[in-house]
Amino acid sequence: METINIIIAGPRGRMGSEAVKLVTNTEHFKLAAVIDHKHDGMMLSDIAGFQAISNVPVYTDIEKCLQAVEADVLIDLTTPEVGMHHAKTALTYNVRPVVGTTGFSPEDLEELQQICDEKKLGCIIAPNFAIGAVLMMKFSQMAAKYFQDVEIIEMHHDQKLDAPSGSAVKTAEMISAVRESKQQGHPNEKETMTGARGADFNGMHIHSVRLPGLVAHQQVLFGADGQTLTIRHDSYHRGSFMSGVKVAVETVMKQNAFVYGLENILG
Ligand code: NAP
Repeated sequence: METINIIIAGPRGRMGSEAVKLVTNTEHFKLAAVIDHKHDGMMLSDIAGFQAISNVPVYTDIEKCLQAVEADVLIDLTTPEVGMHHAKTALTYNVRPVVGTTGFSPEDLEELQQICDEKKLGCIIAPNFAIGAVLMMKFSQMAAKYFQDVEIIEMHHDQKLDAPSGSAVKTAEMISAVRESKQQGHPNEKETMTGARGADFNGMHIHSVRLPGLVAHQQVLFGADGQTLTIRHDSYHRGSFMSGVKVAVETVMKQNAFVYGLENILG
């Protein structure tokens, strides 16, 4: 297999450090450089936790990095503002972005799609790289054809800022595409405590749980006469996202278009 040269932006982050492990442990991947806004000009081995990784330069400025280093793919795991700048600049240098950073606006996505169309270059952006989570969404969509009544319970660590999670919203959207519209619960039901029935998405309900100890978990519960069906996915640590990142890096090299969502590249 041909070697894929990779730049990682955000290598010290919770996701980025897992990506460094993935790239350095995969035979046909080579870590060409990293983008870290605090350690310009150093080598990765000078940064705590990466002493064993040799010959990987650190840049703060993506443009300087792309001019100096030969790369095929940029993996971005930073913040939406800087991630957008990184992805756009990478495409300018014919480097394909694989972006796990969440929070891109619809305008950002459209702009990246346009650049990819013009340059005929691949770019994959996925708000959830856990293959199991994507399958959970697909299976839920299959089930929703037969079960109109569904409640989504998503559970995350207590440092998460947004609720409901992007994955819960995505699941609800996918279910809505096939589910016959229905306002669930008793027509006269009344919350005696605000929020007891969760968020309402086209008549189905989404509940957000936040607890220390959790990482990223979701349960989709379907109910019908005399039966229930539960589809559940658990991410116990951030390594769970890396098999999706690996597939995305391999796939983006064969693509000449923009893709949003891991579900669109899984067979
Ligand atoms: P994190 O631990 O906070 O890591 C973010 C990294 O980005 C940090 O190393 C941070 O450096 C760096 N950074 C911040 N501003 C920067 C800048 N201006 N230039 C360069 N680097 C900068 O966050 P995380 O949990 O790894 O998550 C990273 C992103 O991935 C988030 O958007 C998160 O929502 C997303 N995520 C995606 C998935 C998925 O499956 N797609 C799963 C989990 C998380 P400092 O620490 O020095 O600020």
